[in-house]
Amino acid sequence: MKEVGEIVSEIETPTGIYYDCEIVQISCPACGETFKGMKRSAGGFIAGHHAYHEFVNSQDLIIEAMGGV
Ligand SMILES: [Zn+2]
Repeated sequence: MKEVGEIVSEIETPTGIYYDCEIVQISCPACGETFKGMKRSAGGFIAGHHAYHEFVNSQDLIIEAMGGV
């Protein structure tokens, strides 16, 4: 497993080859899930959690607006 801060000179993925990738670690502020890996994938992790939590929150607001469960 790669360590945080490590620069990986070359990573081959199904979509292409990444060069000089820094390994980063981030946690979702909403649920605390943690991801470690390339920035490119970290972006997907953040975007995915953002979309997910926004969706769940909007569902909650709709339910609340309709008078609760
Ligand atoms: Zn999350």
